[in-house]
Amino acid sequence: MATLNLNAINKSFGSAKVLHDISLAIEDKEFVVFVGPSGCGKSTLLRIIAGLEEATDGSIIIGGEDVSDAHPVDRGISMVFQSYALYPHLSVYENIAFPLRVQKLEKSDLDGRVQRAAEILQLTDKLDLKPGQLSGGQRQRVAIGRSIVREPKVFLFDEPLSNLDAALRGDMRVELTQLHRDLDATMVYVTHDQIEAMTMADRIVVLNGGRVEQFGSPMELYHHPKTKFVASFIGQPN
Ligand code: ADP
Ligand code: MG
Repeated sequence: MATLNLNAINKSFGSAKVLHDISLAIEDKEFVVFVGPSGCGKSTLLRIIAGLEEATDGSIIIGGEDVSDAHPVDRGISMVFQSYALYPHLSVYENIAFPLRVQKLEKSDLDGRVQRAAEILQLTDKLDLKPGQLSGGQRQRVAIGRSIVREPKVFLFDEPLSNLDAALRGDMRVELTQLHRDLDATMVYVTHDQIEAMTMADRIVVLNGGRVEQFGSPMELYHHPKTKFVASFIGQPN
């Protein structure tokens, strides 16, 4: 069970308070989107969940276990970033296998995991190519493959599509929604794009100025916005 609970997370950088008392209960296998304007604290919150940034106070519980002080690699979490640095000199196979190389897995285990990830991401016939021979969308899929092979309990995505053009972004939205179904994993997806949030999420967290404005289904937010901000933000996609 990969439930994800955030309890009263606060974060300050020096005297600047960027997250205010964030508490959220995310269910096992949910696809939750954090949406909000640039600078509202989305990446900081995600990085705190991943363990790449320390909260000023508050706790993070994954699958019932308090991981607040756990090392990032021990949290059962994998994060996909906006700028995905692939190794240009390595094949797609080796790029996907990379996180496993340090884990000393049996060769057959490693190969099985890479092949499964490649199948899910439709990269099976690309495994021998180098990143430079791939399209932008295929490269992003390789980056996601690197997350999948680690078999995390929770996937975190920080604006993974924002470097792609509009058409490709549309395709990748569908692919990621499908991926969520195939993997049956808990996913937290950060975006500033309301359309992405509305079309992909089981539930949406609207953040503004480091505070949760509302947490609910796309329809709840659309039909029953709790605040003026939510009404205008969800009502006026850009
Ligand atoms: P978002 O991802 O929603 O655009 P961020 O989480 O990146 O927002 O940033 C939230 C706020 O925290 C911003 O005001 C940003 O300038 C500030 N911030 C983020 N990281 C740091 C840091 N390492 N040091 C100081 N301020 C930071
Ligand atoms: Mg960000």
